[in-house]
Amino acid sequence: MLNKQRLLTPGPTPLPEDVRLAMAQDMIHHRKPAFKKIMGEIQQGLQHLFGTSQPVLPLTCSGTGAMTAAVTNLFQPGETVLVIEGGKFGERWSAIAESHGLEMVILPVPWGKPVKVIDVLNSLDRWPAIKGILIQASETSTGVLHPIQEIGEMTRKRDVQLVVDGISAVGVSPCPMDEWGIDCLLTGSQKGLMLPPGLAFIALSQRAWERVHTVKSKQFYFNLPKERLQLEQQQTLFTPGISLLVGLAKSLEHFKGDKLQQLFRKQWALTMMARAGISAMGLELLALERFTWGLTSLLMPPGVDASDVLATMARDYGVVAAGGQGAMKGKMIRLGHMGHVDWSDLLAGLYALRQSYVACGGYSGCQNYLELAMKAYEQGLEQHVSA
Ligand SMILES: *Cc1c(COP(=O)(O)O)cnc(C)c1O
Repeated sequence: MLNKQRLLTPGPTPLPEDVRLAMAQDMIHHRKPAFKKIMGEIQQGLQHLFGTSQPVLPLTCSGTGAMTAAVTNLFQPGETVLVIEGGKFGERWSAIAESHGLEMVILPVPWGKPVKVIDVLNSLDRWPAIKGILIQASETSTGVLHPIQEIGEMTRKRDVQLVVDGISAVGVSPCPMDEWGIDCLLTGSQKGLMLPPGLAFIALSQRAWERVHTVKSKQFYFNLPKERLQLEQQQTLFTPGISLLVGLAKSLEHFKGDKLQQLFRKQWALTMMARAGISAMGLELLALERFTWGLTSLLMPPGVDASDVLATMARDYGVVAAGGQGAMKGKMIRLGHMGHVDWSDLLAGLYALRQSYVACGGYSGCQNYLELAMKAYEQGLEQHVSA
C-alpha cells in the first residue's frame, strides 16, 4: 500500500490516538458510578466548548437528531419560524420544521453567501408571528459562516428564539452561546470534536427552557426536560453511546482552557492555507466572505468533473475529500480541514487536489502553490483570530 488514507471531509473527521484508545476499552454500565463519574467530567468540558453556563445535554443520535429535538421541543405545530436557507443544511431545517407542522417563512440566500442581517431584520418586522429563527452557524454545504452574533443582538431584544445548528462550527470557530445571545446551540460528534459519528449535543438558554416548558407535545425519544432531569443525576434518559461518551471525555481534553483558543488559531491558519493554495492553483473559491474555518469549497471549471477529481485523489493519493451536494454535485469540491487535521495533512490534500485536477484535464500553471500555502499558514498562525 502506497498511501496512508487521509480523511479531509467536513465530517466524519480523523481521530487522535488517545481518543481511539479510550473508546477501545471494555463496556461499562450506564447506571453505575463509573459512568456517572464520566458524565460529571464531560459536563464542564462541554459548557466550556459551548461558551455557556447552561447544561449541555448529550443525545445519542446524529446531528440531525439534535436539530429535530430543537424544533420539536421549542415550537408547537402551527407556530411560525424563520428559516435561513443558504444551502443543504438550511433546507434540512425547513424539512424538519415542515414535518413538525410549523408555518415557515423561508429566507433564501444564494449558495456561497452569508445571510444579510438587514434581510433578517426585515423579515422579523414583516412577520411578527415569527417565534424563532432556524439557522446554521456554518453552512457546511457551501462553507459559509452566517452572522450569528449580529442576529443575536436583534433576537435578544425580541421574543424570538435564535436556534443555531453549530455542527461544523462548535470547536472549529468561535460561537460562544451565552455571549452571542444564542437560545439553542447544537452540534454533532463527528465534525470538530474529533469523535466518530453517533452523538449530538444541545444546550438551551434560560428563556428557551421557559419556552420548552410551555410546549405541550413532546416526542418520546427527544424529550429535553426529561433529559435535563436525568443529567442532574449524571444520567441519560435511555442507554447512551457509552463508548462514544468515554471517547468524548478524552477528546474534551483537547479543548480544555486555552487550548480552545489555540484550536481556533489552527483552524484559521489551515483555512488561510487552503485558500492560498487553491487560489494559486488557479481554481475558484466559492465563499469569498465569512468563509467557514473547517472546510474550503472550490469550483471546478467547465469540462472538469469534480467526481473524477475526487476519485483520482482517493485512488492515487489516499486523500478523501467531499463533493458538492444538490445542484453543486460534480461542480464543487469541499476540502475538509477540521477535527484532528494539521498542516501536513492539508499539504497532502492540496498536492493531491492539484495533481488530480491536472490528471482530469484541468489546467494549472502555478508551480509554487505549496510554498504559498505554507506561507499563508504561517501568517495565519500569527494573526489575531476572532469570528
Ligand atoms: C453534518 C451536518 C449536519 C448533519 O449531521 P448528521 O450527523 O449527518 O445528522 C447538519 N448540519 C450541519 C451544519 C452539518 O455540518
